[in-house]
Amino acid sequence: MITAADRAADDFDVLIVGGGMVGASLACALAHRPLRIGVVESVSFGAAAQPSYDDRSIALAYGTRRIFEGMGLWREIAAAAAPIERIHVSDRGHFGATRLRADTCGFEALGYVVESRALGRVFAAALTALPGVELISPARVAAIEPAAERLRARIEQGAGTRTVTARLVVGADGAESSVRRWSGIGVQRAEYGQSALIANLTPEYPHRNVAYERFTDSGPLALLPMTDERCALVWTVRTEQCAAIQSLDDDAFLARLQGRFGGRLGRLLRVGARASYPLALVRARRYTAPRLALIGNAAHTLHPIAGQGFNLGLRDVAALAEVVCDALAAGRDIGAGDVLARYEQWRRRDQEHVLRATDGLVRLFSNDRAPLVLARTAGLLLVDLLPPAKRALMRRAMGLAGRQPRLARGLPP
Ligand SMILES: Cc1cc2nc3c(=O)[nH]c(=O)nc-3n(C[C@H](O)[C@H](O)[C@H](O)COP(=O)(O)OP(=O)(O)OC[C@H]3O[C@@H](n4cnc5c(N)ncnc54)[C@H](O)[C@@H]3O)c2cc1C
Repeated sequence: MITAADRAADDFDVLIVGGGMVGASLACALAHRPLRIGVVESVSFGAAAQPSYDDRSIALAYGTRRIFEGMGLWREIAAAAAPIERIHVSDRGHFGATRLRADTCGFEALGYVVESRALGRVFAAALTALPGVELISPARVAAIEPAAERLRARIEQGAGTRTVTARLVVGADGAESSVRRWSGIGVQRAEYGQSALIANLTPEYPHRNVAYERFTDSGPLALLPMTDERCALVWTVRTEQCAAIQSLDDDAFLARLQGRFGGRLGRLLRVGARASYPLALVRARRYTAPRLALIGNAAHTLHPIAGQGFNLGLRDVAALAEVVCDALAAGRDIGAGDVLARYEQWRRRDQEHVLRATDGLVRLFSNDRAPLVLARTAGLLLVDLLPPAKRALMRRAMGLAGRQPRLARGLPP
């Protein structure tokens, strides 16, 4: 409960709760506008326990590169990223594969792989230098309540408490979003019973900027090209087996993985620290409430099978930044109901599409019933043999389908 003693407040235009990859991106997208922006992040940038900037590697779609270019951040990100020039999709133990190539559609890359810690360094430098942005961290938002034409938030920082108001509060506080809970927005949740095991490894042969997505009877497995001839592993295993596999010694771990992945990269030579993430599909029933919008994992948390979660979240960022800037240019209240309704309407289709496609892929490829195996073999072959189907799939995976925000076209939001 926020008490009267808390009431002397700082006033922001936009208060972003969560300075993870998506919240930090929104602050960067809105900076340089006549807006006062607060970003509250509970774990310091660079801390080992930072949950958004951890050991994960993130596959950035080509459309994401364009949005970062529009935000003026791409040069710094590109310096730490490896391009994906080809994608090879196959089904272990079954015939059929699909190969996607960037050069067949005139792009230099289908996407890029970057370590999330490297993204954290780029955002930390940007957030401390941007005009109009105040980074409040380490600090956590502990409550939000309505106030006259504002929302009021209580922020706990060290032993103290600070109360601020904002015309628009953005929940970018991840899958277990408190902002979502405080605003009364419900979720649909489905547990997959799977966990993602991640690690960086070095194979015998150069990866040649190929990303491998291999479906196995225990779940999908991806090896993504990284800088310095390393590969980022995302290996989906049944949750009950995860701890045992994760704690294997390096040789036993690599031998087990080699058996699943095969010999396309020669012998798997070295593996680094391993981490795991239990996987669930979490979808907010709405993305907005009065003076409040949800973005990124707070709105939708996906299985990493197709590497789409952050890419989808960055498209939320570009759309929300655009509707806020339009309202600002028109002299309107940036937190008004119709402004937020535009955001919700715009994002609904893309989010539904990606959620359904990702969930469908998980279910199709985590199942060994004969008709499903036949269907996916036929699907992989068909996509491989039909150029229009392949191009459509590539545009979607690259984040280039549907209405593109101004940022993705190199314009300010
Ligand atoms: C194994 C794995 C691999 C993945 N690979 C890819 C990929 O290749 N491509 C891709 O696009 N996506 C990928 N993803 C998804 C991607 O990691 C997420 O979509 C992305 O991290 C979401 O970012 P976010 O900022 O919305 O949420 P988060 O990363 O969860 O960040 C939320 C932030 O909010 C802060 N916070 C929480 N509560 C509060 C509070 N009350 N006050 C203040 N701060 C708070 C947290 O400290 C945190 O920093 C992958 C995910 C996993 C698990």
